[in-house]
Amino acid sequence: MKITDIKATTVTVPLEAPLRHAAGCHWGRFVRTIVEVETDEGITGLGEMGGGGESAESAFRAMKAYLVGHDPARLEEMRFKIANPTASLYNNRTQILAALEFACLDILGKKWDVPVYDILGGQLQSEVPFASYLFFRYPNPKTGDGEVRTVDQLVEHAKDLKTRYGFTSHKLKGGVFHPEYELKCYRALAEELGADQRSGDSFRFDPNASWSTEQAIWFGQQIEDIRNDYFEDPVFGLHAMRRTREKVRMPLATNTVVVNFEQLAANVLNTAIDVILLDTTFWGGIRPCVKAAGVCETFQLGVAVHSSGELGIQLATMLHLGAVIPNLTFAADAHYHHLTDDIIVGGKFEYKDGRISVPTGPGLGVTLDRDKLAEYSDLYKRLGGYPYDKDPLRPDWTPVVPNTRWADPNDARRPDISF
Ligand SMILES: [Mg+2]
Repeated sequence: MKITDIKATTVTVPLEAPLRHAAGCHWGRFVRTIVEVETDEGITGLGEMGGGGESAESAFRAMKAYLVGHDPARLEEMRFKIANPTASLYNNRTQILAALEFACLDILGKKWDVPVYDILGGQLQSEVPFASYLFFRYPNPKTGDGEVRTVDQLVEHAKDLKTRYGFTSHKLKGGVFHPEYELKCYRALAEELGADQRSGDSFRFDPNASWSTEQAIWFGQQIEDIRNDYFEDPVFGLHAMRRTREKVRMPLATNTVVVNFEQLAANVLNTAIDVILLDTTFWGGIRPCVKAAGVCETFQLGVAVHSSGELGIQLATMLHLGAVIPNLTFAADAHYHHLTDDIIVGGKFEYKDGRISVPTGPGLGVTLDRDKLAEYSDLYKRLGGYPYDKDPLRPDWTPVVPNTRWADPNDARRPDISF
């Protein structure tokens, strides 16, 4: 079998409300690029990458010079063709490789009539547990709904998500407001949702590496009594994480400073982080994540799954990953429940008891909904991209690291964002 064509279509899909984070905001929607790899046997594979626009679409088109005529089963060779480690110093294509790897695995699964998890070693679990991913949110610019800013709004939002989806692990994305205010928010969540020891609800906090080490140590010591899964990226850098870990009694986790094998090796040799959040995009595909999970198993580091903001194709890659790695002992993260729609046939994946079933069809087990693809491609053409690392209501703000320029929790304005 040979690859004959590579197509890329950028889409934008609305979120319930804009999601605020330490470096800016998701302005009420995600922008993703959907990749289709075609073959001479009429089988097409699907991939997905974050971000998009003409530059992303042309970056995928440029890969045709390398991959037309390539056998999609030769995945290792494809890695060296387009993401050779030394050539990558000049052309960082890790995320492009990831989307193409997803598509090639999808092709192989369809050709061999097996789900991707069977190619990756076989299923150990048929469903993957997810955490409620709690963000501070601006009100939806159109409807005014969905704001999460006050402690009460946050607790209500978390309870609502728990009722709707069954989550028993709760992640709060911080780094937006002053740490003392966010501590109040996190403690309120733990008190309202974690009071029942039998329910087993657990918590994780992630300020996106926006604090000083001293700030991180102070915050960590204030939450030692909570049933924490882990404390995620309180500071930037392996050394600051190591200093924090010396003084705070809970596991530390990262999706920021261990995102490749070099960094994983450094962390094994001089451990700063207990739990590695694997991301099928950041690591260059599902298979590198499986390999990294093997290293974590060898050195008995924890494994969790990071979300870079997924639609259904990327979510399927996370589900197949979760199905095959034996050491995934934490609920995975996904932004997915904040989305209002998806581009796959049948609509959004469903949660049951906080879990999503791993698709069992051939390949990734998802099919593109052509009407939705066209609808959200048109929406992208109308709206364009958005600056992920800017805050719509603080245009002059620059988030330095460590940050001290916090948003004001009393500011109840609604951003003016076009839809
Ligand atoms: Mg994180």
